[in-house]
Amino acid sequence: MSAGGSATARPRYGVVGWPVSHSRSPAMHQAAGLDYQLLPVPPERVEATLRALPASGFAGVNVTIPHKGAALAVADTASVAAREIGAANTLLYAPDGGIAADNTDAPGLLATLTGRPQASAIVLGAGGSARAIVWALRSIGCEVGVWNRTSARAEALVEELGGTALSVSGDSGLVEPADILVNCTALELDRSSSGIDGLPLSVDHLARYATVVDLAYKPGGTVLTAEAAKRTFVVDGLEILVQQGARSFELWTGRPADVAAMRSAVRNTAEDHGAAYDPPGGKPVP
Ligand code: NDP
Repeated sequence: MSAGGSATARPRYGVVGWPVSHSRSPAMHQAAGLDYQLLPVPPERVEATLRALPASGFAGVNVTIPHKGAALAVADTASVAAREIGAANTLLYAPDGGIAADNTDAPGLLATLTGRPQASAIVLGAGGSARAIVWALRSIGCEVGVWNRTSARAEALVEELGGTALSVSGDSGLVEPADILVNCTALELDRSSSGIDGLPLSVDHLARYATVVDLAYKPGGTVLTAEAAKRTFVVDGLEILVQQGARSFELWTGRPADVAAMRSAVRNTAEDHGAAYDPPGGKPVP
């Protein structure tokens, strides 16, 4: 789809969220060459704003917490991934006024697993990101187990998207090995918790997973990625951010993204912000 706006104006892009001030997406997409900015929009204004942005020269936007469902709802067309996940993180504005929705969180994860064993996975969490991850893994034929603190949400998720809800009894934690472990919980960003004690994992058992993916990220890395890196292959939340961003870039521009430049921008931003990166509510915005 080609960019909206006038023939001569440089197309504009951005990330719509609430709150969104700590997003690394502007640094990442600016490094890739886009005119890209933060777009803080409260829930009561999101629908009108998403419809109005093309008139201000926007050719596309990323959409993040808590607006991914609203983004899907305003779209005229949606990819199979966005429809089945029930959320869109990327909108494309066509010159004719049409809005197309896609979800690049799912292919972003799969890109990080290239060449890795992919037959089985355990997903921790049953929130919005877990839906995209379970959908992505199921789409490649992976056998998926889902554990969540609130078990009813895990059961509802697998009922809709497939997979098996996992429960844990006693102190043993999850005992099944799997090719992939994906943490989609916000546990480490919860200020009332420390480390990964709230997850059904023992760090000594992380070698059971050929790849450990942690969607969460924070300055200095998470406890899970640090412990897993001593024992197995790790994909951190910043790499997931880069890969979903690269796919959004490609949808908007039709060109391959400069992934190395995007990765460098994201990691430098993280280091620059250091301990100051601690948003209200403790939840970074992808
Ligand atoms: P949601 O709010 O939709 O879901 C939060 C999940 O975390 C739920 O499963 C919730 O369980 C669980 N959880 C929260 N607190 C705790 C806790 N103290 N102990 C155990 N489980 C807990 O969030 P998202 O799915 O959108 O995001 C989840 C994480 O992934 C966040 O850290 C987010 O920043 C990150 N993320 C990263 C992306 C990237 O590009 N790297 C992209 C998207 C998300 P329950 O149902 O019991 O409340």
